[in-house]
Amino acid sequence: MDLRFTEEDEAFREEVRAWLEANLAGEFAALRGRGGSGDLESAAEGRRAWERRLAEAGWTCIGWPKEHGGRGASLIQEVIFNEEYARARAPGRLGHIGETLLGPTVIAFGTEAQKRRFLPPIVRAEELWCQGYSEPNAGSDLANVQCKAERVGDEWVVTGQKVWTSLAAIADWCFALCRTDTHGRKHEGISYLLVPMRQPGIEVIPIRQITGTSEFAEVFFDGARTAAENVIGPVGGGWKVAMGTLAFERGASTLGQQLAFQIELEQVIEAAKSNGMAKDPVMRQRLADAWIGLRIMRLNALRTLTAIEGGAQLSREALITKLYWATWHRDLGKLAVDVLGARSEIIDGPAYELGDLQRLFLWARSDTIYAGTNQIQRNIIAERALGLPREPRTGDER
Ligand SMILES: Cc1cc2nc3c(=O)[nH]c(=O)nc-3n(C[C@H](O)[C@H](O)[C@H](O)COP(=O)(O)OP(=O)(O)OC[C@H]3O[C@@H](n4cnc5c(N)ncnc54)[C@H](O)[C@@H]3O)c2cc1C
Repeated sequence: MDLRFTEEDEAFREEVRAWLEANLAGEFAALRGRGGSGDLESAAEGRRAWERRLAEAGWTCIGWPKEHGGRGASLIQEVIFNEEYARARAPGRLGHIGETLLGPTVIAFGTEAQKRRFLPPIVRAEELWCQGYSEPNAGSDLANVQCKAERVGDEWVVTGQKVWTSLAAIADWCFALCRTDTHGRKHEGISYLLVPMRQPGIEVIPIRQITGTSEFAEVFFDGARTAAENVIGPVGGGWKVAMGTLAFERGASTLGQQLAFQIELEQVIEAAKSNGMAKDPVMRQRLADAWIGLRIMRLNALRTLTAIEGGAQLSREALITKLYWATWHRDLGKLAVDVLGARSEIIDGPAYELGDLQRLFLWARSDTIYAGTNQIQRNIIAERALGLPREPRTGDER
């Protein structure tokens, strides 16, 4: 196990750092720190322009193979890019769903024609994507999706509802799990459809969150249409593709995320120093524990990444990643408001103009829900890491 970066990696880091420094200037300077958790929808126009600036310089989709418009960067280089991106407080990526979820899925499961149609606009930052998996009765139990797609002539006609769809209000396309066959077991008869968002058959109703922002939405499909060929993988065989997409979730973004966490922890420590809480013995212990948790997170991530780079399968230790960081981050939010004390309940500006630490507290509640809730993560650890019997499921039938 080698947890150090090579000289070549460090040279790459310098290149990324210098480019970000030179380009997060002028019209883009104001975007620093924007578009993060709980602020995902802000400054959308400026951030679209920023996406195009990244694309022009070849900094989108860097881990994709060169033949598909990427740089063919190694996993470690992707990690470095994300770390430097977070360090520079560059704006939250509007294109991340296309770049990290849909694109890799098309590369792995799509036809040549689908690759030619859908990959270049993601690389050029011309088309933004959203993920249409969850429904009111299909979240943790994703195979229960009911949104229906029927083949009519050379099109699919989609009817039903998705919910919690992040960035749906600004996305150009949605990859949606739809039921195309109601026979068989729950996981069968689901197809992975690509549906254009800007059409009369789709209504997007933003959901306001406790942060006051609306980064996700309900999406209603009422006779929405997409071309017959816009199915990834076999018709009725979308479950395997859907699971493939979930496997791409996070990975290389882990260390960048940890750097963002570190910046937040430093803000909490600064607040504690300036209001005297740093002298409180219990607060001191909690701050130290938070710092220790972050170090553990980093070492586990480096260990996992080193193993993957070496061609190894994901180890059992990798299964703790989501549960660990989500719980740590939620607890950091609690620590932040405890450090601020009664001050955390006051907003200086207009309603919902939250301070960074207030937003952290409210947003971090969602970390233990999306991308697999804490309870689901524990089930995964129980079954896959500890070999405990599978939890009783209510049958595979619908
Ligand atoms: C910020 C945010 C962004 C999101 N973005 C998207 C998006 O872009 N696209 C998308 O499709 N979805 C998105 N989601 C939805 C997310 O994937 C679901 O919220 C998540 O899968 C949980 O599903 P649910 O909300 O239906 O809760 P449920 O599955 O109904 O769960 C409710 C509670 O029951 C527990 N539970 C459920 N099953 C079990 C079990 N078997 N064992 C033990 N406990 C269980 C859960 O842990 C939870 O506490 C987003 C969610 C959030 C919070």
